[in-house]
Amino acid sequence: MNTPQSFVEAWCAHQGAVVEPWAEGVEILQPTELITALGLPEHARYSEQPAPGSVWVGYGSPVLERILQAATREVPWAALVLEPYAAPREAMARKAAERFSLRNAVYTLEEVRVEAAARLVASARYSLLADDRRDGLVEETVSLSQRVSVPGFWEAARASGSLHPAAAPPAGEELAEAVRAALMRGEALARIQARGYLEGFARRQERDLRRVEEYFQGLRAELNKRSLRAKVTPEDRALKAAAIDRERAAKLQELSERGQVRLAVALAAAVWVEAPVAGLALRTRRRKAERTVRLEYDFATQHLLGPACEACGLDAPLPALCDERLHVICARCVPRAEGRWECPAGPH
Ligand SMILES: [Zn+2]
Ligand SMILES: [Zn+2]
Repeated sequence: MNTPQSFVEAWCAHQGAVVEPWAEGVEILQPTELITALGLPEHARYSEQPAPGSVWVGYGSPVLERILQAATREVPWAALVLEPYAAPREAMARKAAERFSLRNAVYTLEEVRVEAAARLVASARYSLLADDRRDGLVEETVSLSQRVSVPGFWEAARASGSLHPAAAPPAGEELAEAVRAALMRGEALARIQARGYLEGFARRQERDLRRVEEYFQGLRAELNKRSLRAKVTPEDRALKAAAIDRERAAKLQELSERGQVRLAVALAAAVWVEAPVAGLALRTRRRKAERTVRLEYDFATQHLLGPACEACGLDAPLPALCDERLHVICARCVPRAEGRWECPAGPH
């Protein structure tokens, strides 16, 4: 079974440590690099339960955290080229482009070009931290030129052709941009995947808030009763009321701080794939202005990829264009595209 201890054992051994099983854990003689890089003792016993005389490596222990960070610093990835079994047909891309629509603008199809384009298939791991911790894994594929998702790409690519190692793997800014776009969408996916957890947390927060309010209402009612029975002087009453208000404010502040949900998303593994696409250029018109908007038809998934929203950066399958600069805007950023609206991608 894969336990924190077996992971620590395997990883340290891989780094050159001498590992010796021991009744309640494992004994490890660390190589110099790990002693200096991770601050691990030269020779020690490790166990999953905190115990005197041994280094604790159970879930949540600082040493396990350090080792996990070191182990995941290098992201495994591969660069491949997809050779489709069937030649891509331009007509399919044209047909898909004809079904595309803008919410408040018209267009003509200017250009269709069959070419190769890059996709980044990214596995991202996430940690959600609130009153409890939730970890998970999401997968997301993005098109490099469009910076939008390509749903189902990995399965479709393996089914529609053969994959070969790429001659020139990508690097630098292009790769960094792709990773950014994938992680941004991975974050949104993580929130969807952890919806139950987030809703449960919100319910617990609400319940705690209600309890705090009930408690302080009780205190105030008690104070009122006592002052009605003339058991407290008006000065005393004012002091006590102020103290209750202060305490309530502090409690509410504490609750709202505890109510923050932190989400961290990191790349766990990635595959870069060059695949056949059709690059499409649309000449769009809105009132008197014109602008070219680019789309991409993905032959592996037989899917037309819309543009990315120029305000929020997420996918805009049914975009609207702003009046002045004809920015592409998604339906979340501007739900109603009729009439005049302020462009969220401004300033113009
Ligand atoms: Zn948007
Ligand atoms: Zn605009």
